[in-house]
This record gives sequence, structure tokens and C-alpha cells, in this order.
Amino acid sequence: MRVSNLTEKIDAVKRTIEEACLRSGRVPQDVLLVAVTKRFPEEVVEAAWENGLRAFGENYVQEGVKKIQGLKEKGITPEWHLIGHLQKNKARQAIRHFDWIETVDSKELLGRISRIAQEEKRRIRCLIQVNISMDPGKSGILPGDVEDILRYAANLEDSPVSIEGLMTITRYSQDPEAARKWFRALRELRDTIMESGTLPFNLKHLSMGMSNDYPVAIEEGATIVRVGQALFGPRE
Ligand SMILES: *Cc1c(COP(=O)(O)O)cnc(C)c1O
Repeated sequence: MRVSNLTEKIDAVKRTIEEACLRSGRVPQDVLLVAVTKRFPEEVVEAAWENGLRAFGENYVQEGVKKIQGLKEKGITPEWHLIGHLQKNKARQAIRHFDWIETVDSKELLGRISRIAQEEKRRIRCLIQVNISMDPGKSGILPGDVEDILRYAANLEDSPVSIEGLMTITRYSQDPEAARKWFRALRELRDTIMESGTLPFNLKHLSMGMSNDYPVAIEEGATIVRVGQALFGPRE
């Protein structure tokens, strides 16, 4: 599979990121573009890597690990982000191969990640997934419970888990403005927690925004945007 005009699409997304930064008084170096390659084959990652992209996101552990291993054999070693729900029984595989787990959504899962990472001698960067819109059908910690899981994380001894911020997946809408209030709410939640000053973490990252609304997310403070289709075209 070949993505048509990949170089142009990558340039366009980077330009859009720069423009959103300019509008909001931010610098592009503070926004990490995670290219989401779920359901795209290895050669698409390879082409994106050749075009300079260095961070990739996958939703499913099995699909991701297969690509990660195949690409590693070719010397292609980007930073890999797990952005889909992590089932308990896949935690070990995920920890062995991914650098980031963006979808920590329970204390139980966090405890397990910490223990397994210790066993595997892997340092792992994590984000707490927040169900910011309190959507009944969505996974993620409810906003009111985020401090509680952070307190739990703070009490894990000698943990190789580094808690670096919050992540959210908002409901898809054609209107890029639809999610603005939720992006803002995630940032405000982060700011409130940090201002309380009682937790030993710097929650510097906010992972929010996808192809349809990443410029809005950047205006609201995203430091990680997860973009697939705007780079690679529609998924089958
Ligand atoms: C698929 C996916 C994305 C990317 O969506 P696009 O519409 O392809 O940009 C981002 N985040 C998560 C959690 C996803 O599942």
C-alpha cells in the first residue's frame, strides 16, 4: 500500500500545527505529532519514518507489536504510543514493546503496569485517560476520580512508571469546534490538580485532538496530538 502525496500531507499537518501554535502563543516544539497507524501496514510507517516522523500510535497490542518488531528488524525504531484500551492480559506484551501507554484507566491496571515494568526492567511513560465528557459508553477515569488514581500512583514504591499527564478521546464530530469545551476542561482539570501542589508529578502532557480537531486541541493546550487520516488518508 502506498499513501499518495505523503510528503505533502505531512508538511500540511506540520504547517497546521505551526499555525495553531502561532494563534495561541505557543511554540511548535512543544507539540508532539503522534502518527496513528492502526489498520495501516508496516510500509506506511516506514514511508512516514523516511519523511522524518518519529512517534507513532497504535490501538491494538497485537497489531502494534507485529509492526514494531517487523520495523525494528529494518532499523526503524520510533517512539511507540499505545492509544487503545489495554486489556489486563495484554499488559506484559504492551510494556515490552511500547514506550508510552496513554490509556491508563484504572488503579488496578496502573498497579499491574508498574509491577510488570519492574519485572521486565522497562521504564514506561504513562498518561491517565480521562472520560472528560462523562460519556457513559466511554472508558477513562471520571474527572472527579483523577486525583485519587494519581495519589495511588504516588504511593507505588520504586515504580518505573512515569506519569506524565492526561489524555482524552472525545466523541467524533464533523465540527472541529464541538470538542473545544472538553479540551479546555481537560487542561483546567490538569491545572487545578497541579495547583493543589500535593502530588509529586509534573503533568506536563495533554494528549488530545485527532485529524478532525487537532488545531482546536492545540489552541486549548494539547502537547500531544494523535493524527491518522489527515496524514495517511481514509482507513478502510
Ligand atoms: C484512531 C485514533 C486516532 C486517530 O484518528 P484519525 O481520525 O485517524 O486522526 C487518535 N486517537 C485514538 C485514540 C484513535 O483511536
